[in-house]
Amino acid sequence: RKAAEEERKDEPAVTTDGHRVAVVANIGGSDDAAEAMRRGAEGVGLLRSEFVFMGRTTAPTEAEQAQVYADCSRALQPGQPLVIRTLDVGGDKPLHYLPIPAEENPFLGIRGVRVAFDRPEVLRTQCRAILAAADAGARLHVMFPMIATIDDWRRAKAIFDEERAAAGTTTPVSVGIMMEVPSVAVMARQFAAEEGCDFFSVGTNDLTSYTLAMDRGHPRLAAQVDPCNPAVLTLIGNAAEALHAHGKWLGVCGGVASDPQAVPILVGLGVDELSCSIPAIPSVKAAVRAYSLDTCRTLAHKAVTCSTPSEVRALVPIEDS
Ligand code: PEP
Ligand code: MG
Repeated sequence: RKAAEEERKDEPAVTTDGHRVAVVANIGGSDDAAEAMRRGAEGVGLLRSEFVFMGRTTAPTEAEQAQVYADCSRALQPGQPLVIRTLDVGGDKPLHYLPIPAEENPFLGIRGVRVAFDRPEVLRTQCRAILAAADAGARLHVMFPMIATIDDWRRAKAIFDEERAAAGTTTPVSVGIMMEVPSVAVMARQFAAEEGCDFFSVGTNDLTSYTLAMDRGHPRLAAQVDPCNPAVLTLIGNAAEALHAHGKWLGVCGGVASDPQAVPILVGLGVDELSCSIPAIPSVKAAVRAYSLDTCRTLAHKAVTCSTPSEVRALVPIEDS
């Protein structure tokens, strides 16, 4: 089966009844972008830009960042999407030259876009670098991590818009929101109605953690932090419906997008783009091709009425490899 998946890795992922799902990659830099292309990715759904900031003693300059973003963009085929997530540190991701004061509850504290609000110059520099790279070929998207409130979104978007106006560029850049705090999924209708908000991408790692109030890295709890929990799937399905009603698209860039068993359920819930780990791309594409959209929808309807993650997983038989 692996050989058959390999053979079709460069073909699009289309269900048996003709519904196309974008299969893109999660990357940490331009080497990954090139590798993702070799493995059949149709673009990048998540560039974790914190990798550009890690392993250094000072923050990368605007020029250094622009170079990395442009290199990633040039590694893709013209017109393919490149989604750059702005710096996502704090919580489990420290950065010593950007110290975050010790907190009782780092996962509920200053992390993701909240760091950017404390240090707006960091986000401003990053926005300028992204805008500078916007002409390198790919269709550029920027998204903000850990958005929890409409105010968070408006504040981050305003910073991007100010830098865009100052740069005077006309290249279109889509702007979106990481859906990884339950409030955003619950209020998808209101978020989708926000002007200038083009897309959403579900960070199922954090969304699952925050939905269940369980630390995804906790040694005794991690096994229960299953994105196939019906609570999480219900949030995703309801959000997809609300976003589509506003003509906005929904991706999934958390780990569950790399799980072939979950793929038909995600597709049935209305997910438009799966952004997965590079090695998973051929098998995720194969999983899309194995079902009709009708079957995916039936599976999704059943999944949201299940009581446990194992009931959900039992809906989708796993093939032997
Ligand atoms: C997520 O939370 O699912 C996600 C993609 O972001 P990260 O794993 O980098 O926190
Ligand atoms: Mg996250």
